[in-house]
Amino acid sequence: MVNSTDCLRKYGTPGNPKTEGKFISIWDVPDDINAALPALPNRIYCNNDLRQPLEQALRNIITRGLTAQFKAWDGCYQVRNKRGQGSASLHSWAIAVDINAAWNRFGATPTMSAALVKCFTDAGFDWGGVWAKPDGMHFQLRSI
Ligand SMILES: [Zn+2]
Repeated sequence: MVNSTDCLRKYGTPGNPKTEGKFISIWDVPDDINAALPALPNRIYCNNDLRQPLEQALRNIITRGLTAQFKAWDGCYQVRNKRGQGSASLHSWAIAVDINAAWNRFGATPTMSAALVKCFTDAGFDWGGVWAKPDGMHFQLRSI
């Protein structure tokens, strides 16, 4: 599993405006994806390494007929520590996304369907819903 040490090595210190432009940029979400998933923003500020896997996960949701389950986009880039821990969250490098947070709170039993989770895991993400302290809303890149 990717951790903050891996991210520091590859991307450097998060939240540095002088260097983050080298690996984070604005992804203009394709129109057909926005049309199928109205909860998704039109533009997402995210890691360049996240773009292709995220697009694949979203297309999996569409082609597998699960669009009604994509209820809320709850963010990608946010420089902060992991909840309840001292190390940086992978959101700090914009290689993690949160969806359907209201129904999949940190520490609570996730309500996300296995089929929806598989759209992301098939596209190269790890899911926080299987962690000892579950983070059901959370998906992060399996490798960088
Ligand atoms: Zn998260």
